[in-house]
Order: sequence, then structure tokens, then C-alpha cells
Amino acid sequence: MKHRIVVLGAGYAGAYVAGTLARRLSPADTEITVVNAEPDFVQRLRLHQLAAGQEIEAPKLADVFAGTAIRLRVARVTAVDPERQVVAVADADGDVAGELGYDTLLYALGSHVADHGVPGVAEHAFHVTSRPAALRLRERLDSLSGREGGGSVLVVGDGLTGIETATEIAESRPGLSVTLVARGELGAPLSAGARSHLRQACHRLDISVREHTSVEAVEATRALCADGTALAADATV
Ligand SMILES: Cc1cc2nc3c(=O)[nH]c(=O)nc-3n(C[C@H](O)[C@H](O)[C@H](O)COP(=O)(O)OP(=O)(O)OC[C@H]3O[C@@H](n4cnc5c(N)ncnc54)[C@H](O)[C@@H]3O)c2cc1C
Repeated sequence: MKHRIVVLGAGYAGAYVAGTLARRLSPADTEITVVNAEPDFVQRLRLHQLAAGQEIEAPKLADVFAGTAIRLRVARVTAVDPERQVVAVADADGDVAGELGYDTLLYALGSHVADHGVPGVAEHAFHVTSRPAALRLRERLDSLSGREGGGSVLVVGDGLTGIETATEIAESRPGLSVTLVARGELGAPLSAGARSHLRQACHRLDISVREHTSVEAVEATRALCADGTALAADATV
């Protein structure tokens, strides 16, 4: 019987490892199956660009794996049973579609957005960690851009994703007013040179920067800060 390798997730990690294994192992004695929720390869690190309005290539996974012996199963993983060495999968409608047995399992399902327990985030905030979420933000930005006077976008968090998201939106949609919120000094973990470049970029793109600010709650049209101030926001990211 062939050794069954099941790779969960076909993002950067899963797609890369499946391809590498397929090149190194013989299909005569191994069987590689990749399970992914979507039929496309999602370029997650470009989702802020998708949200801002750019078209991002999403190659079909079937094409990515064409010419290899990799089997693709488009389904959502719902459970892993290590005792029985099976994975439960559901189809796109959420109906249970069956089980896949494995001898070796690779878990590469990526990560989820964290709301850090801030009230209102789940209901009102946008994020860019999945394609549906990025498209939801894009839809909101489209509606704000079409409004007379534009609207305000508040990006909370000055990590790399926050910086990329704020600058991308400001550059693509100059009619919107963009504010970037940093808990400490802007870009604190970056080098002095990078921090200075970041400040210049924010200035050039007309991004307002709020430093030493912690957001404690998000409402539909504003974010409430620890110092008692409220920042108006038609979209909080
Ligand atoms: C906006 C943004 C910008 C970024 N920029 C950079 C950058 O410039 N440089 C950098 O190094 N990193 C960047 N990152 C981080 C980078 O995207 C992640 O580190 C990387 O995607 C992790 O790869 P992964 O394969 O572990 O997960 P992912 O790429 O998220 O892949 C996980 C896969 O699993 C699938 N999946 C999830 N759950 C299930 C399930 N239950 N059933 C079936 N399939 C499932 C998903 O559909 C996806 O295809 C950025 C992230 C974001 C959000």
C-alpha cells in the first residue's frame, strides 16, 4: 500500500511543501493529497492591495499542481482525528463530505485574524487576512470613494500589515482621509532609517498619524481610545 501524505492548506507553506515532496518522492510508493478550502492560490501577502482596488492574480491550484502527481481536494477541513489518522472535510456548502485517511499529515492552515478582545471589532471592523475580508473592505472603500467628500479610514496598528494597508489605501484612493494609529512611536520596531522613511511616506500620502494611542472599542462610525478621545471612522481596519 502507498504511503499517504495529506497536506492541509495550499497557501505558501502547503503549496511549497507539497510541490517539494512531489519532486522528491516517487508516485510509485507515495500518494500526496492537498486539501484547501478555495480552488485558487490566494496571495495573502498582497491582500491589502486587493482591498485597495488592485486586481491580484489568483492562479488555479489545479494549474499550479498540473504535471505533478498531487491530488487536489477543494474542501474545508473540519476535524483531525490523530487516533484514527483521518481528517474530516466538508464541501463548500458546509455539508460533511467525508474523511481522508493519512499516514503523514502536514498542517499548514495559516492563521486567523485576532480581535484581541476589543469590543466591536467583530461587528464593525474590517481586516485583510482573507480574500473575502479584503473584498468586503474594498466594497466599503468603493462606496466611500463614490460619496461626495469621500470618507475616513482608520487603520489601527502600525505593524507591517497596517503600514502597507494604510499607505496602499492612501495612494490608491486620494479622496479618502486615512489615519494610522500606533500604540507607541510610529514604526517603533523599525530601524531609525526605516522610521524616517515611513514618516516621510505618511506625510507625502497625507496620512494622519496618531501615536501613543490604544483603541479600546470600535463602533460603526468611530473608534474609542484609552485616553478618552474618539476617532471618526467610516471604516476601521
Ligand atoms: C495583508 C498581508 C500582508 C502580508 N505581507 C507579508 C509580506 O510582505 N511578507 C511576508 O513574509 N509575509 C507577509 N504576510 C504574512 C503572510 O501572508 C503569511 O505569513 C503567510 O501567508 C503564511 O503562509 P501559510 O501557508 O502558513 O498560510 P496561508 O497563506 O494563510 O495559507 C493557508 C491556506 O489554508 C487554507 N485554509 C485555511 N483554513 C482551512 C480549512 N479549515 N480547510 C481547508 N483549507 C483551509 C486557506 O484557504 C489558505 O489557502 C502578510 C499577511 C497579510 C494578511
